[in-house]
Amino acid sequence: MERIAVFPGSFDPVTRGHEDIILRALPLFDKVYIAIGSNTEKKSCFSLEQRADWVRVVFKDMPSIHVITYSGLTVDLCAKLGAQFIIRGLRTSADFEFERSIGQINRKLDPGIETVFLLTSPEFTSLNSSIVRDILRHGGDASQFVPREVNLGGLPEAKE
Ligand code: ADP
Repeated sequence: MERIAVFPGSFDPVTRGHEDIILRALPLFDKVYIAIGSNTEKKSCFSLEQRADWVRVVFKDMPSIHVITYSGLTVDLCAKLGAQFIIRGLRTSADFEFERSIGQINRKLDPGIETVFLLTSPEFTSLNSSIVRDILRHGGDASQFVPREVNLGGLPEAKE
């Protein structure tokens, strides 16, 4: 049976931390869906299309990676895709507490799905999308924090 995983997230925008987790997850699975969520609770800075385009550009040469957008429950998406695994990255103890409850609830919702946690590489422990957005908001250069294929340009507001 094919080992299929979903890596869900906001990717607002994709960072080198995300990239690192995805590259390390690749050898573990036959197929990885990077699933970019449109979350009504969490207002995103970049549009769903923009976030997906950047991720597509980064992984364009990797045939086992598929980039999709979704709304709704991640377990429902997994069922639709035939995925048995959810990948999540862990940076801090706060991540652990948050991810533990989501992982346990997801397992209640669908006992057939395992969440697989990968520890962040030390150099990316303090990196998250919100820091990248803050740097951009204040006119700084965030390029070292995003994959080299990503050309951030600036915040959508700043372009207008
Ligand atoms: P969400 O809103 O679902 O947390 P994110 O895009 O912020 O979406 O994160 C998606 C996943 O990527 C999460 O599992 C998160 O822990 C992981 N992640 C984000 N940044 C890093 C990083 N620097 N190192 C390791 N994992 C990370």
